[in-house]
Amino acid sequence: TIENFIMIKPDGVQRGLCGVIIKRFERKGYKLIGLKMLNPTEEILKEHYKDLADKPFFKKLVNYISQGPVIAMVWEGVDIVKQGRRIIGETNPLDSAVGTIRGDFGLEVGRNIIHGSDSVASANREINLWFKADELI
Ligand code: ATP
Ligand code: MG
Repeated sequence: TIENFIMIKPDGVQRGLCGVIIKRFERKGYKLIGLKMLNPTEEILKEHYKDLADKPFFKKLVNYISQGPVIAMVWEGVDIVKQGRRIIGETNPLDSAVGTIRGDFGLEVGRNIIHGSDSVASANREINLWFKADELI
């Protein structure tokens, strides 16, 4: 089965959106197989977002998310990576359809509530980065 790394960013946690976010994955039929709250280090975030290292917003992005806390999760089920992107919406909430998490709850690209892996390969990389094997059910 396919697994996906989903993270509720500090703005999503602060705004009290954890329950509604988890519900949206549950009601679709996905299974939660790992969850933890943490304050992520800059080190793990630089590794997580390493493909964006040369972007002008990289420092701000890492600095913001490192303030934490975040909720890191692993979800399992059919097409979870592609469906996860559909449930979350586009990177910019302005481009995200109503009915998606970013489309319903977000306003700004730099405060877009949630992360979801963009491919099965990056999901596997990110799960290994954020979770130990014994933290997953
Ligand atoms: P994520 O990886 O966080 O799920 P994404 O895959 O939709 O988001 P990426 O291109 O991977 O988008 O960008 C990672 C994050 O960097 C975005 O979620 C957003 O918070 C931030 N970001 C992307 N583009 C911009 C931008 N132009 N200005 C400010 N922040 C940005
Ligand atoms: Mg991304």
